[in-house]
Amino acid sequence: LTGQQFINAATNAVQEIERYYSTIDERPVLPSISPGYLQKLLPSHAPQDGEPWQDIANDIEAKIMPGMTHWQHPKYMAFFAASSTYPGILGEMWSAALTAPAFNWICSPIVTELETVVLDWLAQILALPKAFMSSGQGGGVIQGSASEAIVTCMIAARERFVRRQLEREGITDEDESEDRASEIRSKLVALGSEQSHSSTKKGAVIAGTRYRSIATARKDDYALTGTGLRARLEELTTKGLQPYYLTITLGTTNTCAVDDFASIAEVAKDYPDLWIHCDAAWAGAALVLPEYQHLSTQLSFVDSFDINMHKWLLTNFDASCLYVQKRKDLTDALSITPAYLKNQFTDSGLVTDYRDWQIPLGRRFRALKVWFVLRTWGVSGLQQHIQHHINLGNLFADLVRSRDDIFTMFTPPAYALTVFTVNARRKQPVLREHTTVDGAGPRPDQDSHVAIIPATDDKHVAAANEATKAVYNIIDERKEFFLTSTVID
Ligand code: PLP
Repeated sequence: LTGQQFINAATNAVQEIERYYSTIDERPVLPSISPGYLQKLLPSHAPQDGEPWQDIANDIEAKIMPGMTHWQHPKYMAFFAASSTYPGILGEMWSAALTAPAFNWICSPIVTELETVVLDWLAQILALPKAFMSSGQGGGVIQGSASEAIVTCMIAARERFVRRQLEREGITDEDESEDRASEIRSKLVALGSEQSHSSTKKGAVIAGTRYRSIATARKDDYALTGTGLRARLEELTTKGLQPYYLTITLGTTNTCAVDDFASIAEVAKDYPDLWIHCDAAWAGAALVLPEYQHLSTQLSFVDSFDINMHKWLLTNFDASCLYVQKRKDLTDALSITPAYLKNQFTDSGLVTDYRDWQIPLGRRFRALKVWFVLRTWGVSGLQQHIQHHINLGNLFADLVRSRDDIFTMFTPPAYALTVFTVNARRKQPVLREHTTVDGAGPRPDQDSHVAIIPATDDKHVAAANEATKAVYNIIDERKEFFLTSTVID
């Protein structure tokens, strides 16, 4: 494309994108194609000669849209919010235009410097403890995903544990250190609660260590507690294993549980070698609101904290913001500097080379879209956005509650998430055997032929599970709404 052709194509694309968003509710939220549809529509080889741009642009509607699940659709209520906003899109556009895989500061100083500034801004907006800001020994870095942030921290935690152990044992010889390090690593165990996101278990696979989960209970709304954590740590150390890493969660995937930070912090005092990571991938966005910031201020005991701005904070994928209290923990584990990566600025120690805070070398200019979003929305705009979603969540939860003849709330609504089951229905003969949630005895349905059996009674959980699954399947088949189902306990 020439410059003028680019102007025409890009102008047209921007108009099409605006049209897409302003009419998105006219499309079905879910695609109705079958797996492998695209293979039949596209040639099996790349074109030998270049094609006119207009032919390619036409294929957006013809070939791409039929295979899209529209995450910004008003009837999309599955998984989690994946923000897209015009400032975020513009940030992506400029990032692509200024492509600069700035692994070192010198590769494009602005890519590093803007990232440091906007992550310090975000830390303040979320009221994180000051130790997570770049002015001290900590700082933030943008990663591709919460899973990537977890693996990065787990590797840093593993190597920190090994380093400390070698120091305790007074081993300095290089070969001896390597041999002993592998022995130490073979005893390490990473931990998460039963409700931690699967990325913690996957992280342990990548880090090459054991993984153990810690039980949670419905009575605690599935939050990890200090008591449960201590019992598991004692059990593991008695067996000769070394717990080195723990994920705690602010907003679990299943029910948006928030782990009991205060009691976990007490246990952490007795395990100074345990790296604690707070995964706030989705619900961390609520920390923009003062009424949730009592949670942020409790986080002084964690080594690292991560929030996905690309989930609920108006920033297009990807922008997972990872904070550490001690950036040296990351660089000690991940900094390997061959001659071609050395330069006077790195050697001076005056600059940040983010390659040493992450697994890949190259990196995108993601700070731009974060900067655009924070500036166009402002703190008050972010707060209004989150409050609005929480209000909608509460409205939905109230609607569910108002039909307790059909639904049972499974856990209290949290943030903007409502988790509910569908009550089982039985034919008339069982009418007298069961009571309803309010204890008022069997409640007949409109036609008086069925009794409603809420899932609060263990005996009826299986029946309610079946009913919930059946209703979910009907919704899934109709494709009018997209919801997520899960299995707990
Ligand atoms: N942590 C939590 C609590 C999540 O809910 C999710 C995704 O749903 C993740 C981590 C994984 O996020 P990512 O896709 O950024 O790796």
